[in-house]
Amino acid sequence: MRVGIDAGGTLVKVAYSEDSGIRFAKYPIAEIERVAEWINGLKDAEVCVTGGKSGVLKSFLAESVGEMVEFEATRLGVQFLLVQMGRSDDAYLVTNVGTGTSIHCIQGNMQERLGGTGIGGGTLIGLSHLLTGLTDFDEIVRLASQGSRERIDLKVKHIYEGKEPPISGELTASNFGQNLFSVSGDLSKEELLATVIGLVGETVSTISVQAARHCRSSTIIYIGSSFIGNSLLKEVVESYTILRGSTPLFLENGEFSGAVGAMISLH
Ligand code: ATP
Ligand code: MG
Repeated sequence: MRVGIDAGGTLVKVAYSEDSGIRFAKYPIAEIERVAEWINGLKDAEVCVTGGKSGVLKSFLAESVGEMVEFEATRLGVQFLLVQMGRSDDAYLVTNVGTGTSIHCIQGNMQERLGGTGIGGGTLIGLSHLLTGLTDFDEIVRLASQGSRERIDLKVKHIYEGKEPPISGELTASNFGQNLFSVSGDLSKEELLATVIGLVGETVSTISVQAARHCRSSTIIYIGSSFIGNSLLKEVVESYTILRGSTPLFLENGEFSGAVGAMISLH
């Protein structure tokens, strides 16, 4: 059995070979010791770990295991998952919206980190919690999908009142930029959560399309657990990426890219 583990800031992702296929599992980082116990109980397993918390995971392991640089594991995993989707792309950007967001240009076997932003899945959960008290990711995402950003985000057309704006009036001029002092007590959780997701989605797609100028491709592959069950975030990211002339792609099981890359590095 081959096992790849990507221990990130928020979630531990596991990919392992079984019955000629790949199985996936994920756990909150607080349960990292449970993952270690599972590995310690395996017989005849080859293990490779990656991610910012791989050192913590290793400290709980009984035997030594392989370790891999996160960006390299992600590149390998994305390449593998693309082939599984029947694609043969050679050059593309990868934007990993994890706890934070990291952007990479991949050309063949080369990868270069182009940048990133602290606005990511951690921001999604953190700001959502501060604004609504909610703690559960699935609930945050579900309520957000029922909300409208109309009363909270300021659009270009709101600023260019009575005259033609130089860019689309429908674009966001300022996330959370409406005059909120008069309505703050009246806003629903759904509205606040939808606007948080708008902020995260517009920020990661804006910097991704800008980074695409420095990469020989306009295909942007979005991965990371922030997209799990989160069709609103996907919609925001997809529509903004297309508007700016790039091509978005959401990878099936993309959140497991690092774990898959670590797994297939074991021959
Ligand atoms: P990083 O790569 O930045 O070290 P990570 O690898 O842990 O972090 P991901 O697992 O890709 O990051 O994504 C984490 C984000 O996914 C969270 O911040 C949250 O927005 C979202 N998420 C999805 N499902 C869950 C869940 N069950 N519990 C907590 N967060 C979740
Ligand atoms: Mg990660």
